[in-house]
Amino acid sequence: MTLALSKGRIFEETMPLLAEAGIEVPENPESSRKLILPTSDPGLRLIIVRASDVPTYVQYGAADLGIAGKDVLIEHAKEHPGGLYQPIDLNIAKCRLAVAVRNGFDYDAAVHQGARLRVATKYVHSAREHFASKGVYVDIIKLYGSMELAPLIGLADCIVDLVSTGGTLRANDLVAVEDVMPISSRLIVNQAALKTRGDRLQPLLDAFARAASRNV
Ligand code: ATP
Ligand code: MG
Repeated sequence: MTLALSKGRIFEETMPLLAEAGIEVPENPESSRKLILPTSDPGLRLIIVRASDVPTYVQYGAADLGIAGKDVLIEHAKEHPGGLYQPIDLNIAKCRLAVAVRNGFDYDAAVHQGARLRVATKYVHSAREHFASKGVYVDIIKLYGSMELAPLIGLADCIVDLVSTGGTLRANDLVAVEDVMPISSRLIVNQAALKTRGDRLQPLLDAFARAASRNV
C-alpha cells in the first residue's frame, strides 16, 4: 500500500497517528530528501509529494491513500470531480481559510458600498463561492504563493489565505477580517483500491479513525 502526503506540517502531524497504529517511519523527508519512504510495516510505504498533488496521486491510483487539507481537496474536486473517497477527518493541520486586508483598509465599508473587490488567492473556487454567497462582486486573481504581498503592492484589495496564528499576516501589516471556513486534513482513499484491496486497507483506515477520534 502507498500513502501520499506532503512534508512539513502534515507529515509531522501524521507521524503520531501512524505510531498509534504501530507504524514507525525511520527516515525524515526533510533531512533524507527521499521521496519514497519505507515504514516499519513492510506492506506500507509513504510517498512525499506537494500538498496540492496529493489528490491527483490518489485519484489515479498511484497512491492508495493520501492525506490532504480541506483547502486542497475543495479546489481539486472542482476541477477533477469524482473518484476520491474521503472517509476520515484526521483533525490535524488545523487552521482556517480567511479573508485578509491591508491594515487600515475598510473592508466592511467596501462590501457595503458594493464595490467590486479584487481578490488574490490560491483558493479560487473557495473564494469565488464565499463572495458569491455574500453577494459581493469580485475579480479573482490566481496566485500560487506569497499571497500576502498582493494587497501591499496594489495587485489586490484582499487575499483569501490560510491563517493559524496570524503571525505571517501581522508581519506583513495585514489583518484577517472574515472567516471563510475551518480547515483540517483528511484521509482520502482511491475508490478502486478500496474495492480490490479493501482487506488490506480497511485495518489501516480503522487505525486512522481510532487515532483521529482522540485528536478532536
Ligand atoms: P505547496 O508549497 O505545495 O504549493 P503549500 O505551501 O500550501 O503547498 P504547506 O504550506 O505545506 O503547502 O501546506 C500544506 C497544507 O497544510 C495546506 O494545504 C493546509 O491544509 C495545511 N496548512 C497550511 N498552513 C497551515 C497553518 N498555518 N496551520 C495549519 N495547517 C496549515
Ligand atoms: Mg509551501
